[in-house]
Amino acid sequence: MVTRTPALVERMRPHAASIFGQMSSLAQASGAINLGQGFPDEDGPAELQDIARAAIADGRGNQYPPAHGLPDLRLAVAEHQSRFYGLSIDPDTEVVIGTGASEVLQSALLALCEPGDEVVVFEPWFDLYGAGIALAGATRVSVPLRPPSYRPDIDALADAITARTRVLLLNSPHNPTGVVFTREELQAIADLAVEHDLIVLSDEAYAHLWFDGHPHIPISTLPGMFERTISVGSGGKSFSFTGWKIGWGSGPQDLIAAVRVVRQHLSYVSGGPFQYAIAAGLRLPDAYFDGLRAQMQTKRDLLTGGLRSLGFEVTESQGTYFATSDLGPFARIEGRNVDGRQMCEWLPDHAGVAAIPIQVFCDDPELGAQSIRWAFGKADDTLIEALTRLQKVVRL
Ligand code: PMP
Repeated sequence: MVTRTPALVERMRPHAASIFGQMSSLAQASGAINLGQGFPDEDGPAELQDIARAAIADGRGNQYPPAHGLPDLRLAVAEHQSRFYGLSIDPDTEVVIGTGASEVLQSALLALCEPGDEVVVFEPWFDLYGAGIALAGATRVSVPLRPPSYRPDIDALADAITARTRVLLLNSPHNPTGVVFTREELQAIADLAVEHDLIVLSDEAYAHLWFDGHPHIPISTLPGMFERTISVGSGGKSFSFTGWKIGWGSGPQDLIAAVRVVRQHLSYVSGGPFQYAIAAGLRLPDAYFDGLRAQMQTKRDLLTGGLRSLGFEVTESQGTYFATSDLGPFARIEGRNVDGRQMCEWLPDHAGVAAIPIQVFCDDPELGAQSIRWAFGKADDTLIEALTRLQKVVRL
């Protein structure tokens, strides 16, 4: 037998297991309804599917599109940023297209961080950030968002910034908590970024998924912030086609040029025909975006209302397609106290529903130990069936 050191490099070993894969396979094995993974189970607009199909049929995008994205898609991103946020962006130099928001985020971290630089991020955080920071050889510095409100603590953020801090990695609307940062919170964060001359990497994958009176505000729209911010968007989340993997980044030329260098050496290009469809998506009338929000808000109300009536304490979800709760009636299972992970491992087999424990998004094991994330971007019937299943177990 050949003996050698483990194949996986040390810096990636802590990132080996994906909780989403683990919970999805538990859900699949037991036939549970998967309220764990964050993808909608209803496809987005049929007209965008037609455009992708026509592009394939007509031979548009079947061969390598331009490295930094189809010019018309870059133009559509610039128009979108102007239409929704009043930002003026040069599509030739200030936009980059990537394989989902994921690749833009990872390229940015790899492009901007020297080994040993610090990246400050609120936790719980989306798991891809941890892997991206580790790949870059940078150091993750987490600042807790504490349940049940999960509002950002600006003093704690200020304390986390050091002379080695290079990037502030923000995410609003925030996965997994559903918090949408207010203008005041963003202004306080922006003040710190300016004071310490930080680059802000702003993950706005859920930009079009905000609810009742909690509008998404890109931090790049605040005074002095455009020149230090990369805003990242996701076609998957904005148009309910998460499998197409088209994302974009926009920002000042020097930052986007840096991201482009790394990104072109990762996937080079991706999803040619889908780029045509996402360009059309970005130009859809307001009614589409209003409709998406209204539809998701109804689903949020359905799931969170149901969870509350079962005895869960649910934090108001202001955006994304996630809501968080405490362990509610499952804080004790079979006569013993459990944490979120134990509850989520038990739930698929015994209740036929899968969810995600918040602790897997945290460096601090205590922070998310009593919190659960539920995905509500599912068909109404699916949500109702999940609640019915939970109710049966609660009643036992
Ligand atoms: N950011 C956040 C906060 C996400 O939740 C996700 C997807 N779950 C992404 C980025 C990645 O988006 P994409 O699928 O466009 O790569």
